[in-house]
Amino acid sequence: MANTYRFGPHIIPASQIFFRSKYSLGLVNLKPILPGHVLVISRRSVPRFLDLNADEVSDMFQSAQRIGKVIEKEYNSTSLTIACQDGPHAGQSVPHVHVHIIPRRLGDFGNNDDIYDEIARNTKEYLTKDSDSVDIVGIGAALAAPPEKKGVDFDERKPRSEQDMAQEATRLAELLDQHQLS
Ligand code: AMP
Repeated sequence: MANTYRFGPHIIPASQIFFRSKYSLGLVNLKPILPGHVLVISRRSVPRFLDLNADEVSDMFQSAQRIGKVIEKEYNSTSLTIACQDGPHAGQSVPHVHVHIIPRRLGDFGNNDDIYDEIARNTKEYLTKDSDSVDIVGIGAALAAPPEKKGVDFDERKPRSEQDMAQEATRLAELLDQHQLS
């Protein structure tokens, strides 16, 4: 098993990977929008959804189903936001195909669809704070004002420690193993 994996320009320690399939990986999030916000990434580091072949697309979405089922239960939620920002002008900040899986429950955001502003706002953070992120233009208007929402305050969301991420990855890997057996 590899010690590290690529996620666009980022080097991801194996400790942060909780799921492995033939063509996809499950990665815990450095800065989750809500607890349990994880990513399914392609094993091949390619930027766009169209760059995946049919086997990779199928594997990625079957992986998203399996991971989503466990995430929804583990985080006491009742629904999932499953989203892909495909290309910089759609808000993609890491040029490596990935699907966001975010556990949702009634009232987590005052206005339900504000989750999409938050996903885009994540992008803004990387643009302003992370020097190796891609250069994206033309998304300013959508990012201007924080949405009215309950839950975690965007400005208070800090990158998590490696230890915290590794702990979550271990727990999720165990749950996925159990799920496979049952
Ligand atoms: P997007 O803006 O759709 O490209 O989403 C990028 C996602 O990757 C965001 O949810 C970030 O929080 C997450 N992210 C960025 N860098 C890392 C990293 N080094 N490890 C884990 N997640 C990351």
